[in-house]
Amino acid sequence: MPVKIGVLRENALTEPRAALVPAGVERLVKKGAVVEVETGVGLRSNIADEAYAIVGASIVSDRSRLLASSDILVRLQKPALEEADLLKPGSIHISFLDPFNDLKLVERLAQKSVNAVSLEMIPRTTRAQKMDVLSSQASLAGYAAVILAAERLLKIFPLMMTPAGTISPARVLVLGAGVAGLQAIATAKRLGARVEAFDTRPAAEEQVLSLGAKFIKIDLGETGQTQGGYAKALTEEQLNRQRQALLEHCRNADVVITTAQVFGKKAPILVTREMVEAMKPGSVIVDLAVESGGNVEGIVFNEEVVKNGVRLVGFANLAGRVPMDASQMISSNIIALVEEYWDAESKSMVLKEDDILKGCLITRNGKIVHPSIESLIHHTTV
Ligand code: NAD
Repeated sequence: MPVKIGVLRENALTEPRAALVPAGVERLVKKGAVVEVETGVGLRSNIADEAYAIVGASIVSDRSRLLASSDILVRLQKPALEEADLLKPGSIHISFLDPFNDLKLVERLAQKSVNAVSLEMIPRTTRAQKMDVLSSQASLAGYAAVILAAERLLKIFPLMMTPAGTISPARVLVLGAGVAGLQAIATAKRLGARVEAFDTRPAAEEQVLSLGAKFIKIDLGETGQTQGGYAKALTEEQLNRQRQALLEHCRNADVVITTAQVFGKKAPILVTREMVEAMKPGSVIVDLAVESGGNVEGIVFNEEVVKNGVRLVGFANLAGRVPMDASQMISSNIIALVEEYWDAESKSMVLKEDDILKGCLITRNGKIVHPSIESLIHHTTV
């Protein structure tokens, strides 16, 4: 029996992306899989059902049947508990899972003997680069954040010298110069803004400078990064020092883009209420860390609010604002993951015990196999 791969439609209003685009489905069909996609899976990325049918997928409208019969189920949003209950025991489930925060779901998936891969937990290693959904989507989010800010700002970004006067360039401050931050810097520079940035990882300085932006130097003592290249959490004292140093930069900025995250933890507050109050009325803040708690005091999840004349934009899933490219990139990432574990003989995925799956396979054969998640469950139940 050929393996059955199901692709679910994303029903959340905040999720316009599709997990697989037709080019990805075509690769799976060529490998001998039976691919079934839910009706309307790509509509919000401008992909009609027929485009999936042309490459050999069946279009299915019965979502419950897809959930219950797929050997491999691919989607972006994590399942609701009721949907987890419907999954086929022994199946592989590939999605974002938010495993640090949704232990109940992880337990349920284990009980159902579902082998759950968490997309956001794919290690950020060179071998896994082609599967790295966080990087592909962060690049797009960094771009989208700047476009959003430019549209909200009541000024233009570039220097303009005209007979009607000279307009000075907008000042953009980017906090956190990782994947999203660097793309935000590049986009703001292309639009002609004057850009400065800060990151706690020493390696970020050179990358910021190479994009033609200014790097803000703050002496925080030991900061460093983990082996995986992530920032280490700062102490409260270091964070306070950072906030004091950034106050003047916020005061001068027309746009602040924040992207700072610390792996597996709540995002640090970099811009306090006092700093927002110091900013000019009409300026704009876009907080890309809103999904992990936000970098800005007063930011509201998935909303846009104005405080003292400063516009705080807390929209989630900014990559979803460019869904055609976002779906195409995330589909390539997911296909790379499936192909990495594809066994040509059995024409299915075989989950090996390697570094990549050690990082992102959360449940397996009825057990929670990810050590950090397992120990969290242990701590909350004992
Ligand atoms: P992230 O989304 O976890 O964080 C975004 C940025 O916020 C990071 O650059 C981090 O240093 C920064 N940050 C954290 N606390 C901060 C604070 N208090 N103030 C200012 N900035 C703060 O990280 P990311 O962008 O996904 O990745 C970070 C880095 O990881 C990359 O730049 C890269 O070096 C590495 N990485 C490596 C690979 C790979 O090798 N395949 C893939 C992806 C990322």
